[in-house]
Amino acid sequence: MKTFNVNIVTPDGPVVDTNVELVSAKAQSGELGIMAGHVPMVAPLQIGAVRLVLGGNTSEVVAISGGFLEVRPDQVTILAQAAEKAENIDVARAKEAQMRAERRLQDKQDHIDFKRAELALKRATNRINVSQGKL
Ligand code: ATP
Repeated sequence: MKTFNVNIVTPDGPVVDTNVELVSAKAQSGELGIMAGHVPMVAPLQIGAVRLVLGGNTSEVVAISGGFLEVRPDQVTILAQAAEKAENIDVARAKEAQMRAERRLQDKQDHIDFKRAELALKRATNRINVSQGKL
């Protein structure tokens, strides 16, 4: 199968630079599957998992905390607010963040705090799922 380059970049630096056969990602508009030759486009991403199919039955999952995916000829770039490969996720930290966010949501403070806690909860739950291999 034809391969193409995928770059995942965050404000802290590059996280992934590899050749893949397929990228699947959660866009705001729904699940995207990108193979070589896909039409150029830009799509905003949800907090979710990105799966990279490397070929030969190997794949890698990366937790993405929102951002944009850009498709160009032979190149996919994901600019993410934060991104971690499954094996680099600190599960204890994510569980703490999850509990903290759940406590804040129960406190029912003002709207801004609520929204912020909801996003923190999504990031933490996504990291926990990705570290367990769940998509
Ligand atoms: P926390 O409250 O634990 O900081 P957060 O969701 O607020 O979580 P972010 O602001 O999304 O954290 O990320 C800040 C930096 O920390 C990023 O570089 C991100 O990749 C990294 N990071 C956050 N949580 C984890 C984790 N559980 N494991 C590994 N890296 C993490």
